[in-house]
Amino acid sequence: MNLPEERKNDMAISENARAVLEKRYLIRDEKGEPTETVEELFHRVANAIAAADASFDPKADVAATARCFYDMMTGLDFLPNSPTLMNAGRPLGQLSACFVLPVGDSMEEIFDAIKNAALIHKSGGGTGFSFSRLRPRGSTVNSTGGVASGPISFMKVFNAATEAVKQGGTRRGANMGILRVDHPDILDFITCKNDTKEITNFNISVGITEKFMQAVENGGSYELVDPASHKVTGTLSAREVFDKIVSSAWQTGEPGIIFLDRLNRDNPCPQQGEIESTNPCGEQPLLPYEACNLGSINLVTHLKEEDGRWVLDKDKLTTTIRNAVHFLDNVIEVNKYPLPEIDAMTRSTRKIGLGVMGFADMLLYMGIPYNSDQGVAMAREVMELVNTIGHEESQALAQVRGAFPLFSESTYRNGKPLRNATVTTIAPTGTLSIIAGVSSGVEPVFAYAYIRNVMDNTHLIETNQILKNVLVSRGLYSDALMRQIVEQGSLAHVDGIPEDIKRVFVCAHDVSPIWHVKMQAAFQAYTDNAVSKTVNFPNSATKEEVAEVYTLAYKLGCKGTTIYRDGSRDEQVLNIGKVN
Ligand code: ADP
Repeated sequence: MNLPEERKNDMAISENARAVLEKRYLIRDEKGEPTETVEELFHRVANAIAAADASFDPKADVAATARCFYDMMTGLDFLPNSPTLMNAGRPLGQLSACFVLPVGDSMEEIFDAIKNAALIHKSGGGTGFSFSRLRPRGSTVNSTGGVASGPISFMKVFNAATEAVKQGGTRRGANMGILRVDHPDILDFITCKNDTKEITNFNISVGITEKFMQAVENGGSYELVDPASHKVTGTLSAREVFDKIVSSAWQTGEPGIIFLDRLNRDNPCPQQGEIESTNPCGEQPLLPYEACNLGSINLVTHLKEEDGRWVLDKDKLTTTIRNAVHFLDNVIEVNKYPLPEIDAMTRSTRKIGLGVMGFADMLLYMGIPYNSDQGVAMAREVMELVNTIGHEESQALAQVRGAFPLFSESTYRNGKPLRNATVTTIAPTGTLSIIAGVSSGVEPVFAYAYIRNVMDNTHLIETNQILKNVLVSRGLYSDALMRQIVEQGSLAHVDGIPEDIKRVFVCAHDVSPIWHVKMQAAFQAYTDNAVSKTVNFPNSATKEEVAEVYTLAYKLGCKGTTIYRDGSRDEQVLNIGKVN
């Protein structure tokens, strides 16, 4: 980088994190050279977001707020979603990660949605769509007398447009495609990604209804309905369709499922219409034309040592939650939305999505296994605090700034005014967790040691720092031991590691699918929106085990499920932990 020495200083982030920020997030000149440092990036973001305070109070101490936001980000206590880091304080100014666009049943509406998605992808946002309103394949087109090609063929057009946009070199577009389980084309949809490379820029999920789940439970059938004519076009055995979903997910990881009635039970503004879709990774249900900005608190920097043990620093966490809600509400204010419809909708509900990352690392410091009742209890304790204080802060902001404009018609209307129709969401934190150097979202640690290829066939073993510290302090650390962990992918069967360490340092594949679901449900219980979580299965898992997890997720109150069986796919749409 051609920057003067005095403009570089030493923020506490790793070389790896710095490299990610430098490669993807810094402003560059026409020659592609960065024109800001990492520290200047955080000043740019803090200043742009703090500036919103002045619109509510001309005497507001904007500089103090900017300092607070800067410290919170550079201390790695909290980070906003990637588009905010990339675009705040810049001409594009699009700061949200999540959008849902409507797809109506006409050529104009379909291609409007494609154009709008392209504009969003260009700015680094992800888009979700429900294709459930499109008439089924083979139905008549009135104006031409021709035959409609159906939702799946149009998804391929959305996919091709996404491929072409490439987002100006920052990130490739990501989409969610949803089809209701009672759409006549549902069987084709379930397998639409199995043997084609055509829909690679989509995650897909089946929109499941309560009626369908009840029919699965009592072995009944259910009706398929043409969304255009509202006519019943046939019936299917619910169990058979459920088994097809399970079978496809077992084979390829897709489709996921989302429980539509649950999303709508928690829809704070039902008078604005139904929630039909989520954002690409499933954690943010939204109304058509609604956007949401996310932010995540790093739990690792909210630990303190007490009598030689690591415990949660609740005072610090409370302060960060309050500042984070303030930050995210300001983001709505200074955000430049890609369409007037999105601007209007997003400002009328003012949804924000505050969540956590580094949860698994926090448990490691505390000596609590992820797959244990104590681990699940800790999830509830942390998220209850985030949700409670988050709502309190949103109420406090409402007193000064006013409630969100649709408050009086929302499900909250009989309670205290709130500034934001939703406050909490658990994001995957794919890039944010790399920047913060912690485990992603609420997922268990994926691997404790892995080999990194450096130039000229040199291999370096990268070890999880928390494990390394423990092994070093107990005189157990050696290269040979690390090599065994790399080879086996887990500590579980490595000789020479004491049982107490093995019990705590579990990786994603040591955690049984049932514990994955229990953990997701614990976070969901205290989250307004949804939880991004993948349930990992070993390659040897059976379809029955996948079915059991789907049923458990339903019973425990999750809003959806995504599963992944080890080795079942060569590539993934969104690679957690990688910048796409
Ligand atoms: P980050 O860590 O980069 O802020 P997350 O991994 O937490 O992002 O993802 C949050 C949301 O951001 C996703 O659900 C999706 O809506 C959006 N998103 C993530 N990756 C991409 C991408 N490559 N292109 C477009 N949107 C994305």
